[in-house]
Amino acid sequence: MIPHNRPTLGHEESQAAARVLSSGWIAQGEEVLALEKEFGEYIKLPAENVVAVSSGSAALYMSLTIANAKNKYVSASAYSCRSIFNAIQLSGGIPNFLDVEEVSVNASLKKNNADIYIIAHMFGLPDLNVDNKRGYFLIEDAAQALGAKIKNIQVGLFGDIGVFSLGATKMITSGGQGGIILSKNRDISDLARKMRDYDSIVDAIPRFNFQMTDIQAAIAREQLKKLPEFIFRRASIFEKYQKAGLPVIDSISQDVKPVRFRAVIFTDSAKVISCQNALLESGIRSIVPVTEDELLTTNTLVPNAADLSKKTLSIPIYPSLSDNDVNKIISICSKVLKI
Ligand SMILES: *Cc1c(COP(=O)(O)O)cnc(C)c1O
Repeated sequence: MIPHNRPTLGHEESQAAARVLSSGWIAQGEEVLALEKEFGEYIKLPAENVVAVSSGSAALYMSLTIANAKNKYVSASAYSCRSIFNAIQLSGGIPNFLDVEEVSVNASLKKNNADIYIIAHMFGLPDLNVDNKRGYFLIEDAAQALGAKIKNIQVGLFGDIGVFSLGATKMITSGGQGGIILSKNRDISDLARKMRDYDSIVDAIPRFNFQMTDIQAAIAREQLKKLPEFIFRRASIFEKYQKAGLPVIDSISQDVKPVRFRAVIFTDSAKVISCQNALLESGIRSIVPVTEDELLTTNTLVPNAADLSKKTLSIPIYPSLSDNDVNKIISICSKVLKI
């Protein structure tokens, strides 16, 4: 069976976790600090501006709390992630879900006027809307896009807050769960750091336990070292799909440098189903990346997003996928799509 996605973990991650386990300090400590520093070096921010937390969802919820979302309008694309919906609900914000631009995974910001925007770089494709901010509080959800750039600047740095996920199948993982919240604004990152800890502190800041453990951070540090390799391998698989003529969704702007978190075929809905079935017959799993049921609002309100849901199929792309498997996937999809 070829899974749709899988983490790429090796000896280095095992050793790092074992080192922390035997050190006697396993909760948030030096490893978390080191991860924040190294993540900051990668993104180009000081360590103080980077805060490691328990998940991308936690980072989103913390961002909305920091933005005082309660009773404010929060806009986000309906074609994104359930975790955005949950974060808005928990924070007491008033959701205002947007459609996507026609045949695109980017949010359509037309005719909108919210206090807070959450813009997600879906599939590793940077959404240029983050580079055109006007007056609102911007939360940039880069959970799927660590390493992607706009005008040579890392995504996550455009918003008032940038959010990343280090979940099991994201660009890198801290051992299954984890997240990063960061900001160029020290007041914001300080507040996030305060929200993350609850022990022995009495003040008016809304706190909870959003901490990452040192075991997780040690794994993430090894993954971060491998990130350039991961990005390269994913890009070479994506290129193979493109060269074979598979209709995979890509950015069109020259200003962006995507990461290949997902390879998503865009075709008519009947072919989506036959392609998925043909792959499955050969033991290859594919998924509809955002199903109609997963859209964050009533489908009739977001016709472009609903259309995209019907016409998309996400095929395997991850560093450990072999060339042999890639060729198999190409041959099956080409046959069904008549390329
Ligand atoms: C995965 C993901 C999240 C949530 O991150 P978790 O670490 O799984 O909580 C949020 N937004 C997007 C776009 C994601 O892909």
